[in-house]
Amino acid sequence: MIGQTISNYRIVIKLGGACKVCALALDWSHRVPRPRWALLVQAVVLVLVALAPKAQAQGLTTPPAAAATSSSSSPADRVYRNGVIFTADARNRTAEALAIRDGRIVYVGSNQGVAPFVGAATASVDLKGQFLMPGLVDGHMHPLEAGLKLLKCSLNYESLTIAEMQQRIQICLDHSASEDANAWLDVVSWFQESMRPAGVKTSRATLDALKTTRPILVTSSFGHTALANTRALALARITASTPDRIGGKIWRDDHGEPTGLLEDSAYGVFSDLLPKPTDAEYVAAATAALKAMSRQGITSFLDAAAPSESMSAFTAVRRAGGLTARAHFAPVIEPKEAGDLPGAVARVVAVAKQYDDGAIARSPGITVRNAKLFLDGVIAAPALTGAVREPYLMNAGTAEKPHWVPGPSRGPAVYFSADALATVLVELGRAGIDPHMHADGDGAVHAALDGIEALRKARPTADIRPAIAHDEIVEPADFPRYKLLGAIPVLSFQWEKPAGDTLGLTNYFGPARMKILEPAGLLAAAGARIAFGSDWPVDKLDEWFALKVGVTRTNAPSAGPEYSGRLGDDPGLSREAVLRAATIDAAYELHEDEATGSIEVGKFADLIVLDRNPLKVPAEEIAKIQVLETVVGGNIVYEASAVPGVR
Ligand SMILES: [Zn+2]
Repeated sequence: MIGQTISNYRIVIKLGGACKVCALALDWSHRVPRPRWALLVQAVVLVLVALAPKAQAQGLTTPPAAAATSSSSSPADRVYRNGVIFTADARNRTAEALAIRDGRIVYVGSNQGVAPFVGAATASVDLKGQFLMPGLVDGHMHPLEAGLKLLKCSLNYESLTIAEMQQRIQICLDHSASEDANAWLDVVSWFQESMRPAGVKTSRATLDALKTTRPILVTSSFGHTALANTRALALARITASTPDRIGGKIWRDDHGEPTGLLEDSAYGVFSDLLPKPTDAEYVAAATAALKAMSRQGITSFLDAAAPSESMSAFTAVRRAGGLTARAHFAPVIEPKEAGDLPGAVARVVAVAKQYDDGAIARSPGITVRNAKLFLDGVIAAPALTGAVREPYLMNAGTAEKPHWVPGPSRGPAVYFSADALATVLVELGRAGIDPHMHADGDGAVHAALDGIEALRKARPTADIRPAIAHDEIVEPADFPRYKLLGAIPVLSFQWEKPAGDTLGLTNYFGPARMKILEPAGLLAAAGARIAFGSDWPVDKLDEWFALKVGVTRTNAPSAGPEYSGRLGDDPGLSREAVLRAATIDAAYELHEDEATGSIEVGKFADLIVLDRNPLKVPAEEIAKIQVLETVVGGNIVYEASAVPGVR
């Protein structure tokens, strides 16, 4: 890591521009040990920045001091003019123009001010009023799994009739006709809850009707149900006499025969039967995931439960020159490792040594500075595996005359004891690894905050940025603790709407909890710095729909009347807040906010151009935003075809 910093330093000295030296300062990760001379150089830079005359930034509401450090003596590689540029800087200022040199932003400001940066070889882009902003930083996703799904036969999370479902799967069978008669067809992203008409039943007969003898397994997008055809059931030896496993269910007809529908652990048996992806398939999956990300404008992401296959695959893509987003990975520390937590942390550190490319550089690299810890399951019914402070309600009446009263269950005990969690967080803090905790229910959230409190007490000055992912229900007394403890809620905004998964909780939670379900606006009001994370492929990758829901807390108009209106009483987030959550604040979560996440002089040019202005269009239209261009480190990694006005 030091070697990389020193080589950057040499490049900077050779080029000699003041803002480049400024960029050098930005390039230092807090974790990179700094030699004394380096600190001296940085101090000199800061003095120079402070003394520099304020100019060249007339397009901004207030000129940023950093813009003044830009030198126009050498021309930029590319400038953008006549745009609406949302900078996501500390004051959410907007600008008209920016200039990029050697992958970094060297000017942000007015059209007039950018003129001196234009030389004979400078590419000049007239944005014609288009919207430009920092690239999206997705603070929680599962890209390898998502990429594998992209390569499989997919029902694409769509609402389908039985006939449409059969037609889609038949097309997959026909396209893979060369496969042998025993090859599995693995179908994914089936939106089972949204089959049309509502309540329609699927069974193995749905799949047996297809023209094939191959075994077929269809898995639901929520990940709790699978549908198998008769051939697949036979290969898995699931028959009328197969007992239900713990944590699973085999649906049966009136004669006790399996219908083909299998819940949770009941279809675990298929993981041994379906072929495991090859290394080449993993690399293809990583490549497919990156392509999908660039189309949506994602320039950095966190793999929020990274297996070694993911780090290997993305490393292979990087070596081949195909890494088009800054890739962060969080290996998992499992509750079963509680007996040797220092050993578990040492294992993550060893993984980081193997894969981490060091400080954020112009070209996207691999970063391993997070560790994932699952503290509970999911609050969604019927799982109800989220750890909650107050019991889930249960129906003490009948189906006709329901009477919901507090039941015996608060979900599972938090997966790590308070002591174990405190120990592992303090150890991670010592190692400079940011903890990324899955906490869905308010009981798990409370435990996570207690753990962070212990970490802060033990290491009060360490720059550790603990994240709590999901936070679907949070006790109001815990809202202020996020700010107090510097805990980052990482939220999937697309969940904050009336839909099967949220409204399905109404009976189990009761009205008081339903009012504060998915409390993004309430957390923001309590001062929390919120980061966005899509959790792809739990949902389809649709960042702009998610950001829309973050503002409106409404479903898509096409979702139907039962899902109309807003979810709960939470006020939601402002448009600026959702954009910040998906840029600078997620960059903060990933510890790369000094190098990316905003359009500011000295940072890497990670940016996107959009077909409409998310701050101005009717809120519902934010979901329709198309990315026209995605730029990472000054390099264009995605361009929508035939875009009038750009280029
Ligand atoms: Zn996740």
